[in-house]
Amino acid sequence: MEKRSQRSERKHHKSFKVLNITLLLACLLALVFLSFMLVDKKIISLTNQKRTVNSQSKVTSTKKVEKTTNNSQPKTQETNWVKQENPVKVPILMYHAIHDMAPEEAGNANLIVSPSVFETHIKRLVDEGYYFLTPEETYKVLTDNVLPNGNNKIIWLTFDDSLWDFYDKAFPILKQYKTKATNNVITGTVGNSGNLTLDQMKEMKQSGMSFESHTVNHPDLEYSSQEKQIAELSDSDRYLDSNLAQDTIAVAYPAGRYSDTTLNLAANNYKLGVTTNEGVATAADGLLSLKRVRILPTTDADTLISTISQ
Ligand SMILES: [Zn+2]
Repeated sequence: MEKRSQRSERKHHKSFKVLNITLLLACLLALVFLSFMLVDKKIISLTNQKRTVNSQSKVTSTKKVEKTTNNSQPKTQETNWVKQENPVKVPILMYHAIHDMAPEEAGNANLIVSPSVFETHIKRLVDEGYYFLTPEETYKVLTDNVLPNGNNKIIWLTFDDSLWDFYDKAFPILKQYKTKATNNVITGTVGNSGNLTLDQMKEMKQSGMSFESHTVNHPDLEYSSQEKQIAELSDSDRYLDSNLAQDTIAVAYPAGRYSDTTLNLAANNYKLGVTTNEGVATAADGLLSLKRVRILPTTDADTLISTISQ
């Protein structure tokens, strides 16, 4: 009997040992499994981080590309504004209509440039390496006396009267050559037949075009009352600010007419004012009374370049 119970005890011991070893092994296995899981998770979160970083850098690089494709400047670098010793001169071109003139338009002939002539201007400016300024960049150039990348071939293209053909005729050419231009809008005419619509302006803004003020009703500001001038200057500013979600900084005086009162009032709403006084603009002329270069139907590319060369 005793021997028997001793034997069964030994057997018990043995099975305990087996159980313990099995448990130990199971624990070890579980530990190994858990640590694998943790390492795995770390790897996953690391690759996720990498992926986010990658996609972020992709976003910034496409942004850069988008920015530079709106520009005729070197595609790889941001504009570097280089301080100048001598006062910087800015040729501000003045266009109105871009279409082939109909016979009944002979009275306005001087304001109408054909699309084919317009294209020779743009192509030549691009070939010569001109930097097309935005209104904000023009302000920067004139106030800080700087040049983009030290390039003295700068130009600001302006169009007055927000006519239909800016969208139909000029915009396709400006876009094709990756250039920029500004249209000075008579805000009271937006959406009328023969004039730009808000949707067209919003679309063109996406491609680097800009829209500034040419008052609400195109009056002769020089001989308008102060109240009328205040309304024309500030209402058009407010209209463009709210409808195009922007800060409007420039005004073109209708028919180039203004008085000292006009300049004082314009300063309440604008940083830049463009006139029809002939010449290349400098800060010395006053930021609210800048000269422009009038473009005629007969202005060929050679004449244009020699007029604006500095
Ligand atoms: Zn006008």
